[in-house]
Amino acid sequence: MATIILDQDYMLVDKKADVPEALTEIRRHPLLAVDCKGFKLGGGRSGDLTVIIVATQTKVFIFDVLKLGQRVFDDGLGAILEDKTKEKLMFDCRRDADNLFHQRKVQLTGVLDLQLLEVMYRKRRLPESEDESRRSSRTDEVQPLKGILRCIEMYVKDVAMIEAKLRCQRQVLGDSHVWKTRPLSEKLKSYCCVDTSALFTLYNKLKGGGRDHSRLVIASDRYADTFRCLPERTHGVFEFHPFLPLDIIPEADDSFEFPEASTKCIGCLRLFPADEFPKAQLRNKQRFCRVCIKAKSYALTKVSK
Ligand SMILES: [Zn+2]
Repeated sequence: MATIILDQDYMLVDKKADVPEALTEIRRHPLLAVDCKGFKLGGGRSGDLTVIIVATQTKVFIFDVLKLGQRVFDDGLGAILEDKTKEKLMFDCRRDADNLFHQRKVQLTGVLDLQLLEVMYRKRRLPESEDESRRSSRTDEVQPLKGILRCIEMYVKDVAMIEAKLRCQRQVLGDSHVWKTRPLSEKLKSYCCVDTSALFTLYNKLKGGGRDHSRLVIASDRYADTFRCLPERTHGVFEFHPFLPLDIIPEADDSFEFPEASTKCIGCLRLFPADEFPKAQLRNKQRFCRVCIKAKSYALTKVSK
């Protein structure tokens, strides 16, 4: 198997004495890329975060959370993750935000989520919808979400990066304990560098002169809260599906407001305006938002395959 060439400067931070130097360097940069790794981290708060990667555009810092423990967050990393002036490129921050809050008491803030930016990038290329019918009937407004690998294939087109991501995915699929095993292999450390460098490259491709920046900040903040704010996670079909939850990205006007919401979807447990639900559902109280309806059919198609 080919080895990935590390062309990025990186520092493995696995000793308490090395933490201040790493944090001092990170604090000098307003734009970071952040990625969390661990055991069953797809479950958010129920998984174990064992590695957190924080990269500047010139250096990657790989924090060994398994070795450093909670202290690394209390000694300054937590404050950086909570600092909204430090912008953090991430890709689907929902599970990481859920884990950081419920296990590490860190309220992740200042995210620029590139999974959302990709949806906004696609929508920029479409005419504005003028459909004023009831929300529940506007099913074409449900947006599919793309994974990071697909985004790199579509927008970055860097073959070496795609191959490195695929190798990493295969390794993690083959051994779910890979991010818990110590020492971290050279290969895994280089994957950490590939992952964060992919975030910077993707951001540069999608940001489009920064015109959607304010909306992205608001949307990413809501996205980080999607699972984090739930009293309990269900880990069911309404959480694991490839559709963007509704009312995450504000409209492209200058108001950045979301519609008033007071009626709860019994799938995702989020609140929406009453017209999100068909009238029959409002009467029988079996209310599912448009995304949860799609998620149910998606789960059925997966079962029947
Ligand atoms: Zn729902």
